[in-house]
Amino acid sequence: MLKNFLKEVISIVVGKPAEEVVDLLDSDKYVNEFIIAKKLGLTINQTRNILYKISDHGLVSSIRKKDKKKGWYTYFWKIEVLKSLEFLKEVVLKNLNQLKNQIKSRETKRFYTCERCNIEFNEENAMLHDFTCNECGEVFSVKDNEKVIKEFKKNEEKFGNKLKLINNV
Ligand SMILES: [Zn+2]
Repeated sequence: MLKNFLKEVISIVVGKPAEEVVDLLDSDKYVNEFIIAKKLGLTINQTRNILYKISDHGLVSSIRKKDKKKGWYTYFWKIEVLKSLEFLKEVVLKNLNQLKNQIKSRETKRFYTCERCNIEFNEENAMLHDFTCNECGEVFSVKDNEKVIKEFKKNEEKFGNKLKLINNV
């Protein structure tokens, strides 16, 4: 469960292809970036770019060690689990807020739709279009908000459950 959450976080921050970096990072041991790069099948610069992006959000941290012979620095990385979960929690809360606003708007406002083109307008825009579709000439019908609200509430519940799961990790 934790791993899936962490993967989701990485996927949000740097994109889905990078999410497997989670499998290579530890939460209390620093891992050599060359090992990470090798296992990801990426160059060291590509790997660093990914890790820097993640570290911009404070979700990974690093220490560096100087190679005495070659004179260059190698970075060692670990994942910040608590911060990552906080990050995910914020994303979920944002989604929940959006849903709440959408539900409220559906409960209080009227929406119109062209059923043929499957497009939707709020009342103001529908009025501007004279309640007639630009594309096909069909007259708008009033959108059944109940159905939409039901769908939103389902998602609200899903996100609510997810929040609970994140809190319980
Ligand atoms: Zn239409």
